Amino acid sequence: MKAEIIAVGAELLTPDFRDTNSLPLTAGLNELGIAVSFKTIVGDDEADLARVLRTAIGRSDLVLCMGGLGPTEDDRTRETLARVLKRKLVFRAAIRACIRERFRRRGLPMSASNLKQCYVIDGAEVLDNPNGTAPGQWLETKRSRIALLPGPPREILPMFENDVLPRLAGLGRGLSVRRIIRLTGLGESAMETRLKSVYAEVPSGVTVTTLASPGDLAIHLTYTGGGPRASAETRLDELEASIGRALRPWIYSRRGEGLEEVVGALLRSRDLTIACAESCTGGLIGHRLTDIPGSSDYFLESAVVYGNRAKIRRLGVPAALIDRHGAVSAPVARAMALGIRRTSGADLGLAVTGVAGPGGGTARKPVGLVYLALARARGTVVERHLFFGGRAQVKFQSSQKALDIVRKTLIARTGKAL
Ligand code: ATP
Ligand code: MG
Repeated sequence: MKAEIIAVGAELLTPDFRDTNSLPLTAGLNELGIAVSFKTIVGDDEADLARVLRTAIGRSDLVLCMGGLGPTEDDRTRETLARVLKRKLVFRAAIRACIRERFRRRGLPMSASNLKQCYVIDGAEVLDNPNGTAPGQWLETKRSRIALLPGPPREILPMFENDVLPRLAGLGRGLSVRRIIRLTGLGESAMETRLKSVYAEVPSGVTVTTLASPGDLAIHLTYTGGGPRASAETRLDELEASIGRALRPWIYSRRGEGLEEVVGALLRSRDLTIACAESCTGGLIGHRLTDIPGSSDYFLESAVVYGNRAKIRRLGVPAALIDRHGAVSAPVARAMALGIRRTSGADLGLAVTGVAGPGGGTARKPVGLVYLALARARGTVVERHLFFGGRAQVKFQSSQKALDIVRKTLIARTGKAL
């Protein structure tokens, strides 16, 4: 079973928009054991679109084509596919009634341009679109199955779940089971070196892919093949255990959760609260922690103390300390962590101060130099790090390392290994 995805829309060929829809579509297909062989992005030109459709239908068993079903002149997917298949477009009064009703509910008349959305390729099934005017279509030809779907994510994603996936059940290679192990604090090549022995014992049917970005690494394990599911899970369990033996200190998650979620769960289970004092991260740590629903149970506040006066006024960092050591220094990081812990009343005070760049670096304090401090009842730890990359990367890596200090501290507290 070969599947391919076509994203239609001139905007997707500009630097401003990207085709994100194909990612959940691919995930859904993979779940059924259907691999995606091609993804194409094509503009609104009819001849180009026709060429792409013809190629896809000639080589793939399943073609998911999205976008260009709207009411405007440049939405030509429906018409182009009909031409490629040499089939007529048939007017469906039921679709018109549906679109009219949508407009009526908003107190508007249906505009004439929507009439083109009432045409269906001869022989196609109509796929309801509860979140928009353009219905989808499902067609089967001798060679392939084709779905035409609208472009807006809030329209296509429910339709894919409700109308496309059920039509594909039983077509895939059986089972696809995925597991994502995430790590931080280690470079990509160091991870690869440690994985050498693991690669030698990858069970059949399983693929291992690694992804690396500054401050974050992921190992994806994917089993594709026959069932039963339990035996696929066992193969992945064994592989996961040997990856654990090779990389335990750096693994923060074995089910794909983000570090902020892992830290949140640890804080919750230990009944502890945290507050942050953020200089160079500008609130990123607070943002990440509050991305997790229910985080108000353990996250009290994040003070963005960017200027020296804020560090002094908000946290009570002694001005003399900043004068003597500079704002980016171990003593100031320590004072910030103690200050936020004291003023917030949290169990843990986490502080970050650093040089995010691109300017502001000196020989003694280069861009990427970051001090992190964690204050808790038993004392304060301070770490010095030098991160590489642009401003965004230094900020992210600082937040990542800060959260990882919290994670390691919380694990050590009870000696409970992840
Ligand atoms: P509409 O009725 O809104 O015109 P349509 O089916 O014609 O629906 P498009 O005009 O191609 O869809 O796209 C509408 C919007 O949906 C785009 O502006 C874009 O924001 C979003 N969109 C389209 N295709 C994709 C995609 N592949 N990934 C993510 N977003 C997309
Ligand atoms: Mg459109």
